[in-house]
Parts: sequence; C-alpha cells; structure tokens
Amino acid sequence: MLIKGKRIAIIGGGPGGLTLARLLQMNGADVKVYERDESEHVRVQGATLDLHEESGLKALAKAGLMDAFKLHYRPGADKIRILDKHATIILDEHSHETSRTFDDAAYRPEIDRGPLRKLLLDSLRSHTVVWDSHVISINTEEDGWRIGFKNGTSVTADLVIAADGANSKIRPLITSVKPFYSGITIVEGAVYNSEAATPRMHALLNNGKIFALGDSKSLIVSSKGDGSLVFYTGCKTDERWWYDSQIDFADKTQVTAWFEKEFAGWDATWLELFTNASANFIPRPQYCMPLDQTWEALPNLTMLGDAAHVMPPYAGEGVNMAMLDALELSECLLNTNYTSIHAAIGAYEKQMRARASEVAGVTLESTDILHSSNAMAFMTQLLEQPNL
Ligand SMILES: Cc1cc2nc3c(=O)[nH]c(=O)nc-3n(C[C@H](O)[C@H](O)[C@H](O)COP(=O)(O)OP(=O)(O)OC[C@H]3O[C@@H](n4cnc5c(N)ncnc54)[C@H](O)[C@@H]3O)c2cc1C
Repeated sequence: MLIKGKRIAIIGGGPGGLTLARLLQMNGADVKVYERDESEHVRVQGATLDLHEESGLKALAKAGLMDAFKLHYRPGADKIRILDKHATIILDEHSHETSRTFDDAAYRPEIDRGPLRKLLLDSLRSHTVVWDSHVISINTEEDGWRIGFKNGTSVTADLVIAADGANSKIRPLITSVKPFYSGITIVEGAVYNSEAATPRMHALLNNGKIFALGDSKSLIVSSKGDGSLVFYTGCKTDERWWYDSQIDFADKTQVTAWFEKEFAGWDATWLELFTNASANFIPRPQYCMPLDQTWEALPNLTMLGDAAHVMPPYAGEGVNMAMLDALELSECLLNTNYTSIHAAIGAYEKQMRARASEVAGVTLESTDILHSSNAMAFMTQLLEQPNL
C-alpha cells in the first residue's frame, strides 16, 4: 500500500475531511484530522444538506455508514414549497401523495450538518480528530511537512490533505488560482425554536424547505431537526457590499432595516424571519473557482471539497462534491497500480477538476437564473420533472 507507514494529516473536520479520514482509516491508514473548532460540541451552523446517490450517498455507502445515515436523516425534509414574494404557494411538494425512498435514484435525503458530522466522528477511532487545532502555518521539513497551530503547538506529517473549506490556508501552496465572485451575496440567519418564535413560517415550512423567489432575488428557508430554522437571502450586489454598506451584521435592527428596504413589497411573513432571528447574521459573498483551473500535482500535498472548488450553493452540490472527492482520493491513494503517492494525487486531481468544473458550470447557470426574472418558471419546471 502506497500510504503504509505514512503519517497522514487532514486539515479540517468538515464533511469532506471526515469522510476521507473514515475511508482511509478503515483501510489501515495512520490518519489525524486537525480541526480548528474547540470541540465536537461546537454548534454546527448552516442549512440542511441533501445527499445525492451518485456522490454523497455513494461515499457514505463505501464508508459503511448508510445504516447510521438512515438513523439520522430527516424523512420529508427534502420536500420543497416554492412561494412568490407575496408568500403565495406556487408549487407544493407536500401535496404529492407519495414520498421518495432510498430505492429511487432521484431521492435526495436531507440531513442536518450536526448529525452528519456526528455520525462521521463516531465512525473514527478515538483521538483521530485533534480539536482546537487551527492551522496557521505549514512548511516543508525533510520529506514531509511541519504544521503549526494557533495554540502554539506543531506536528509533522508525510502527506497533507487540505479540507479546510472555502478560505483554505493551504490551497495557495498548491496553486495561485483564486476564486471569482459570482455576483451574488447571501445574508444568512437562524431562528431558534421556530414553532414558538415564527409560528406562521414554521407551519409554512412543514419540516421542509421554502424557496421564495421574486424581483430577481431569492430567500431560502430550511427547517432543522433541533426545532430551529435557517434562512438565507440571495441578492445581486457588488463583491464588497457586505463591507461598503457598513451594516453591522451583529445588529439585528440594522440587518432588518436593510431587508425591509432591499425586499420592499415582499409580504410581512418574510420580515418575521429577521425580527425573530436569534443568531448573528452572516454575510457570505458567493465565490466560484474558475472552470478551467489547473495546476501541477505536488508529491505529498493535495486538497478536496470547497478548498479545491468552492461554488455557490444553488445546485446543492458542495457537500456532495466534497464527499465524492474524499471517496475518489481514498481510492487513488489505496490503489497499488500507482507507482507513487505523487502519481495517485495527480490522477485524483485530474478527475476531480474535470467533475467539479462540470458541476460548477451547472451551478453558475442555476445561480444566474434563480436571480433573474425567469426564476419562478425555472424552479417550478425543475421540480415538476418526474426524475427529480
Ligand atoms: C449558505 C450555504 C448553504 C449551503 N447549502 C448547501 C446545500 O444545500 N447542499 C450542499 O451540498 N452544499 C451546500 N453548501 C456548501 C457546503 O456547505 C460546502 O460545499 C461543504 O460544507 C464543503 O465541505 P468541506 O468539507 O470541503 O468544507 P467545510 O464544510 O467548509 O469544512 C471545513 C472545515 O475546516 C475547518 N477549518 C477551516 N480552516 C481551518 C484551519 N485553518 N485549521 C483547521 N481547521 C480549519 C472548519 O472549521 C471546518 O470544520 C452551502 C453553503 C452555504 C454557505
């Protein structure tokens, strides 16, 4: 085995990094995951994730975790309601008589980020993840790497895999190619205990998802298993709007005032999300890697997931691509037909770039259409396709 006796460091314990750790560890590899979160109990924020048969679910199946997934996914959470800005329901998947099942290749079951992280963590040997390990430096040392952490400690490794997300600190060691701004900025918020805080929205959500579309803007709301909901607006703005607008995103009054102005004419139902939001709002300008990005493979450093190919969330592919990267990278590293780790990394990166580029192209198209005057027609047609 190419990686026999090699110390492997995965930087970042998101879905991509943890899936890779599991797939390598179950094949006898010596793996550590260095994660900046202080502990596994840190609240994992963000919308629910739908896993796809050909990518996220495929990786989980290969990792022997489908039974665990079936214990923790949220049946029915994949059902979508499309509403217009007046909060009128235009399309309602809850009215379908039957629900999809795992036998259906088009089924995209939803799982919250926290339970997904937990089931991956539970599949690893204890102490595989080293918490409170915020990587701030990485330098070559002999044939490997010395990795330095914010807490003052450092470790060495023979092979490093960057799974540290969209703002990867390690990616620049691999390539100077940078992501470009997609033209859309998201403002993300959360309402805890949505049944009590926003009963109207809670009922509308019906444990599923809402896409509200109008005026070339989007507002996506997802229910979560812990009784909270998360939402994010999507608007066409300048890349630095989040800064130039001088909005303090920790101040609910300021963000609510922005929403009222930006979404003028939208029903009061939507405003309730902002007035009842519990957490800080997060502005997220959406970036995408150039579709033609390329680089020369390094002998003992590679990357996966958002670090390799960040893209906007409008095709629901980010987490699926990260988990499929993990599967494909593990298969390359475990494949004895490659003569070196360098060759295995080269083969992985070539197929990963081609796949991610295709998916990012589709994602950019969806991003564009969802923020155009054709958004409603596009989305309703998409959901009415029988195989989706
Ligand atoms: C608003 C929003 C909605 C989304 N919705 C969807 C969706 O519906 N479906 C979908 O598939 N995708 C969605 N995505 C995208 C998805 O979240 C990402 O593509 C996915 O999480 C990428 O996984 P990852 O493992 O590569 O990185 P991440 O999930 O970003 O994980 C990276 C990990 O690395 C850690 N880390 C970062 N820097 C360091 C460091 N220096 N040292 C140590 N650790 C570090 C982080 O704490 C984190 O745990 C959405 C994204 C956003 C912003």
